[in-house]
Amino acid sequence: MSSAARLIRAEFTTALLGLCLLAAAPTAQLALAGVDRPHCDVCGRYTDKSPCRIKATERIGKHGLDIDVCSLFCYAERLEDVKGEITSTQVLDFTTLDDDAPVMLKASTATYLYGTSGDEEATAKPFILAFGSKKAAESARKTTGGELLSWDDVLAKCQKLAAEYEPPKPEDGYTPLKKRGRNPR
Ligand SMILES: [Zn+2]
Repeated sequence: MSSAARLIRAEFTTALLGLCLLAAAPTAQLALAGVDRPHCDVCGRYTDKSPCRIKATERIGKHGLDIDVCSLFCYAERLEDVKGEITSTQVLDFTTLDDDAPVMLKASTATYLYGTSGDEEATAKPFILAFGSKKAAESARKTTGGELLSWDDVLAKCQKLAAEYEPPKPEDGYTPLKKRGRNPR
C-alpha cells in the first residue's frame, strides 16, 4: 500500500470512529447540551426542564398543531391565538420533573399550587406547580408554599393576567419575532 493510500485509510478510520462516537452519545446528554432542546412557543425558554410545562394539541380542520409552553401564563397567552379547538391539555407532574421520563397529567384533573417559589430562568411568572393528587400538592406545599387551586381557577387567573399584559414596545428599528419577549419579567 502506498503511503498516500495508507493516509487516506487512516483518515477514513478516524472519521468512522467519530461518527460511531456521535451515534453513541446519549440523547439526554445532547439534549441538555442545548442540541434539539424544545423551546416555549411563546417566550422561548426551554420547556424540557420547566417545572410547569404544558403540552396541548390545537386542532384546525384535519390538522393537529402541537403546543409546548413553559408555563400557565404562556399557555394563556397562546390561547389568545387559537384559531381551531384545543383537543387535549397536559401538564407536568412536578414530582417527576427530574425523572428520566417525566409524567404528564391531564391538566383538568391535576391539583395546582399557585404562587410558589420559583426560578424565572426556567418558567414565566406566576410560579405554578401541578400534582397528581391533592395529597401530593399539600405535602409539597410545606416547602414550596403557594395556594391550592383547581385547573379552572389557575387558568382563569392566568388568562386575566395575559389579557392585561402589555408586551414591551419594540426599540428603535427593531421588530421582535411575534410573541417573543411576551412574559411578565
Ligand atoms: Zn414560556
